[in-house]
Amino acid sequence: MSEKNEKKKQRIEPIRRVRGMQDFLPSRAAGLRRIARIAEDIARLYGFERVEIPILERASLYRRSLGLGSDVVMKEMYAFEDKNGDELCLRPEGTAGVMRMLIEGGLTQTLPQRWFYEGAMFRRERPQRGRFRQFHQCGVECMHKPARDVYNVDKEVEVVRCAWRFLGELGLKDKIELKVNWLGDAEERRRYGEDLKKHFRQYAKDESLSDESVERLNRNPLRILDSKDSVDQEAIEQAPSFKLNEISQDNFDAIQEYLKNLGIPYSCDSRLVRGLDYYNGFVFEFVEKEAGRAQATVLAGGRYDGLCTELGGKNSVSAIGWAAGLERLIELQEINKIEMNDFYITRICLVGDDTFKEAVYRVELVNFIEELINESYKNNYSKVAFFISSSDEEAEKAKANYILNITRGGYDLYQMKLTNISTGKVEFDLDEPDPRAAFHYWLESKFGNKNKNL
Ligand code: ATP
Ligand code: MG
Repeated sequence: MSEKNEKKKQRIEPIRRVRGMQDFLPSRAAGLRRIARIAEDIARLYGFERVEIPILERASLYRRSLGLGSDVVMKEMYAFEDKNGDELCLRPEGTAGVMRMLIEGGLTQTLPQRWFYEGAMFRRERPQRGRFRQFHQCGVECMHKPARDVYNVDKEVEVVRCAWRFLGELGLKDKIELKVNWLGDAEERRRYGEDLKKHFRQYAKDESLSDESVERLNRNPLRILDSKDSVDQEAIEQAPSFKLNEISQDNFDAIQEYLKNLGIPYSCDSRLVRGLDYYNGFVFEFVEKEAGRAQATVLAGGRYDGLCTELGGKNSVSAIGWAAGLERLIELQEINKIEMNDFYITRICLVGDDTFKEAVYRVELVNFIEELINESYKNNYSKVAFFISSSDEEAEKAKANYILNITRGGYDLYQMKLTNISTGKVEFDLDEPDPRAAFHYWLESKFGNKNKNL
């Protein structure tokens, strides 16, 4: 074998990322963090507190809560057997884990609990635009005592208000629309499901129902209403509507009055069923306007009063919440060219002259930068970063906004020159026994609290 072939053979194959997982390079990661942070800030304004739910749970948690007929349980769970035989699952969503945590924490009588969560979720779906196998959600869950007054819709309105403000903060109010619907309680849904079964069976017989919907016919007939398959549309159009009882109708009307009052545009959509079993009563979705594709829902939620007892909680807990898909929100911002600069960080790079290459002096430079970072942290200059580069060129490649060139004169004599890279302007060029004070002064004037807007 020639030497060349030998080399070729030895080449190590790079390891590729797993299908449907996502890499976030710095700018995309910053976008994701920004949205997550805005969500958390807004949720906090509405009195929600952040919790962390485990990424790994028992698979049975999702089977029991989402329902055997849900898409997630039927085909999207990342479930596997652990070495001790337990069947575990990477979390496909947050609500089930939140409720398990409430029960396990013994908090089902310490209500209300108002929680916010955020993080990666995993569903083994076919990767495509707006649909990944690892994606990110943030959400709020308001768990409260069952209301004595059945006409109380405050919580419904509250979570929608919170969602609306969050989406508004992202500049998306004009790009999305709110769809609302009312699903009955478990018994009403079961009866409605039976009606739908009868209706759709007819279409299945005539072969005018998609394979996927036929598959759903017995397990989850409501979900057929959500099908985007063109074959199903005729059957869906002709399907019977859910009949609300009197109290439900009054509650649903009351919610709509609030929405009108708050100026939150919405439309009723009797086909909006949500895919998971635990919903009852009010459900809603914010969808991209005129998107015409299946992956247009950016935020969705509803009431899930039965979930606590379903998961073995001893007390009944009422609950309502929503979850938003962060990637779809980012994409929607990108499509609409909505830019947000609130995370802009000024990067200041220190470049010492050749004398700093000597170890004894290098220490000085490192101490100086630590001193700057201390100062910055103490004064809450959250929008400034410091790092060292070996040359101006390297500093520019490292995306510095300013370069602080430090030249050693004689003993303890520094010359410091601060240059704004984009304008070329020299902010100062000082030659003093210790120009550090001047630099701190400049930092204070630019990033101090009095100048928050800079
Ligand atoms: P869809 O009908 O699009 O499959 P879903 O009903 O499965 O959505 P939910 O379980 O309600 O979605 O999740 C809430 C939000 O999470 C969705 O509206 C969407 O923005 C986001 N989401 C869900 N699945 C994915 C995924 N595979 N990739 C990216 N985002 C997702
Ligand atoms: Mg789905």
